[in-house]
Amino acid sequence: MKFNNGDIIHGFRVTNLSHIQEVDSDAYLMQHERSGARLLYLANNDDNKVFFISFRTTPDNSKGTPHIMEHSTLCGSRKFPLKEPFVELAKGSLNTFLNAITWPDKTMYPIASRNDKDFHNLMDVYLDAVFYPDCLKNPQILMQEGWHYELDNVDAPLTYNGVVYNEMKGALSSPEAIMEDKAMEELFPDTTYGVESGGDPEVIPTLSFREFSEFHRRFYHPSNSYIYLYGDMDIDETLKFIDQEYLSHFDARNVYSAVKTQSPLPKRKIVEAPFGISENESLEKKTIHALYIALNDHIT
Ligand SMILES: [Zn+2]
Repeated sequence: MKFNNGDIIHGFRVTNLSHIQEVDSDAYLMQHERSGARLLYLANNDDNKVFFISFRTTPDNSKGTPHIMEHSTLCGSRKFPLKEPFVELAKGSLNTFLNAITWPDKTMYPIASRNDKDFHNLMDVYLDAVFYPDCLKNPQILMQEGWHYELDNVDAPLTYNGVVYNEMKGALSSPEAIMEDKAMEELFPDTTYGVESGGDPEVIPTLSFREFSEFHRRFYHPSNSYIYLYGDMDIDETLKFIDQEYLSHFDARNVYSAVKTQSPLPKRKIVEAPFGISENESLEKKTIHALYIALNDHIT
C-alpha cells in the first residue's frame, strides 16, 4: 500500500484502506480535513483514468432543480467563461467518457481519459463548473436551461420553453414513464424518491432564481460531495491539485441532505393514471397494468 491509515496527503486524511481483489486495486478512503469532502481512490495500473465528483442532492419537490442545476453548471464558470464548455470539451478532448447525470438522490459529474494532460484538464473544468458556475450570477442560464416564457408575436399564445422543460416533456410522455413516476410518488410520498428530480413540466415553471441559487449554496458544498479517482495516475499531484485549487478554499459545514426512509410504507392500493394518445388512435388494448412492491432496505 502506498499510504497508511492516518496519513495526511495534501489535506486528505486516509481513513480506511484495503486491497480489492476483484478489481485488482488498492482502495483508499480519505477525508479532506478542511472542507469535509470525502474521496475514494482505487489505485491500479489501468491507464483509463476516472474522476468524478458527486453531490447528494435530495429535492423535496418536482421543480427539477437538481436536473436544471446539472445542465446549468456546464454553461460556463469562473475559469472557463464559455457559453458551452461541455460541448467544446467533448470536441477537443481525448476522453473515453464524459457526462453529467441526475438521479433521484445524487448528481454526478464523471469523466475518463487515457491521457494525463487531458484527464487533468477535464478534472479542472468539472471542479470549476460545480463550485464556481456562472449560472449563479447570470439568471439567463436558468431561463435557457430551465424555463422561460416564449412569445413568437403579439398575437401568439404565451408558452413555456427551456432545455430541461422540453427534455422532461419528452421523457415523461411515455405511458411507462408516467406509470413509474406515479408509483414512486405513491410508494415513497415523504422521501426524495416520491418527487421527480428531473422535473415535472407542470411544476418546472414555478422554480425561481432565488430557489435555484439557494439549492446550489446548500448542496454543492465539498462537505456534501464524494470524489472518486481510479486508475494509474500521479496521485500525489492529483490530490495536491484538488486541494490547492479547490477544496482548501472551503470550510467544512453540516449539510442536511439525508435520504429519509418511508415510514410507515403506504398500505396496498390501486392507483390509476391517464396518458395521452393521438386523436384517431383507438382506445382498444391501451391499458397497462403494473404491480409495484417496495422491499425492505436490507434482507438478511
Ligand atoms: Zn437533461
